[in-house]
Amino acid sequence: MTDVRVRIAPSPTGFLHIGTAKTALFNWLFARKYNGTFILRLEDTDVERSAEEYAQAMCEGFHWLGIEWDEGPEFGGVPEKGACGPYRQSQRRELHRREAFRLLEEGKAYKCFCTKEELEEMREQARQQKLPPRYNGTWRNATPEQVATMGDTPYAIRFKVPEGETVIHDLVQGEVRTNNREYDDFVILKPNGDPIFHLAVVVDDGTMKISHVIRGDDHLTNAARHVMLFQALGYELPKFAHLPMVLDEAGKKFSKRLHGANVLDWRDDGYLPEALINYVVLLGWTPEEEGRELFTRDELVEHFSVERLGASPAKFDLKKLQWLNGQHIRRLSTEQLRDRVVPLLEKAGFDTRAKSEAWLTKMTEICQTKIPTLNDIVPYTDFFFVEPAAYEEKAVSKQWKKPGALDRMRTIRALLEGVAPWDHDTLKAAYEQLSETSGEGLGQFVHPTRLACTGKSVGPGLFELLELLGKDVCLERVDKAIQFIETVEEKTP
Ligand code: GLU
Repeated sequence: MTDVRVRIAPSPTGFLHIGTAKTALFNWLFARKYNGTFILRLEDTDVERSAEEYAQAMCEGFHWLGIEWDEGPEFGGVPEKGACGPYRQSQRRELHRREAFRLLEEGKAYKCFCTKEELEEMREQARQQKLPPRYNGTWRNATPEQVATMGDTPYAIRFKVPEGETVIHDLVQGEVRTNNREYDDFVILKPNGDPIFHLAVVVDDGTMKISHVIRGDDHLTNAARHVMLFQALGYELPKFAHLPMVLDEAGKKFSKRLHGANVLDWRDDGYLPEALINYVVLLGWTPEEEGRELFTRDELVEHFSVERLGASPAKFDLKKLQWLNGQHIRRLSTEQLRDRVVPLLEKAGFDTRAKSEAWLTKMTEICQTKIPTLNDIVPYTDFFFVEPAAYEEKAVSKQWKKPGALDRMRTIRALLEGVAPWDHDTLKAAYEQLSETSGEGLGQFVHPTRLACTGKSVGPGLFELLELLGKDVCLERVDKAIQFIETVEEKTP
């Protein structure tokens, strides 16, 4: 294979959309798989809709996902990288203009002096005949004399669409044939000197020596024009792969307004970039190993193949993403997970610096197999940092509003008092013995203790959490629970 050079070319007119991230991912995987180069090019020519803030948000999104570009614009203090810059399309305007004039000189394009009114008239006529709007070729065959008479009148440069057929051997869509007659002579340079998207994208892909154009299938209808321009400009033709869109859970185009359309929503919701990457790749690619779903980033690079990219769009499935997220959380080392959750606890206002590193590691360990997202660490462990402000109502009804609840809690208190050393195994043995001598299930003692110490009915394993909470705190909380039950009992007639 020739040198693989691929690119993602987003227009910074919004945040990093999940669909753009998917396209970027496949380009990135392809580059990594074939020791190629992955390029980020910001297509910021639409000045009205592009904003620096969006460009930054997109770069941040890629950065969070770990899709690092080998060539691309400056970001976060890292200067522009690569020999084919600049990587912001707006800074390549002169090159686009030069290439448009080259086509003009070579007779592959021509000046069009039609006024706005004349073009509107053409559109109106087409509307009346129920035909798609089309330029009628007024200036296509103008003589040099006719052109000269126009003097300084502003003009657009139009591409002379050649006769014949354009065939694209799309790596995903298969062979796509179009009769060039379907296209009118389209503008490539506006009268104000601005290049049209088709020209800019082809000049940039050509001069950046892009070997494979892998992009969304919303661009499939542009591809024939692009191929004609590639040929006219004499650039080497890249291979094309047009990928299907991402659909939402209802099967509609993933609207920008939906939560989760922005890649960084997932970061804010406590998802791991590893999980999102894994999930998004599965939206458009089927692994050879049937049924396999869990892949690390390196495994994706190893197994990825263009041949297994799908041509039909996939529906978003939150359940699967959640499951994958849990799996990736379990795959981290406890230390790695600790370093990811501690900032979240700090953000929630808990003083983690008061705890030792070993303690924090232990705390992480007892949650690692339980939390579905990183953010769940807060409700799972808040009781370690602050006393429970209230008891879960449902659990109170179940555990403490029944005959014998108070005596049971007192028995638990006496049991805890006698536990030494205060560790998981001793605690577990003590509870098991109590269960055995009383003839009642372990849960009869475990659940009320959990409620007393954490205020909740779910969380990390009880003996693990009791050990970490420490004997004094546990006894204090059990005492409080006893007082609480006493007041509940008083109120109950
Ligand atoms: N800038 C275009 C977009 O954001 C991408 C063009 C391309 O990939 O060729 O849709």
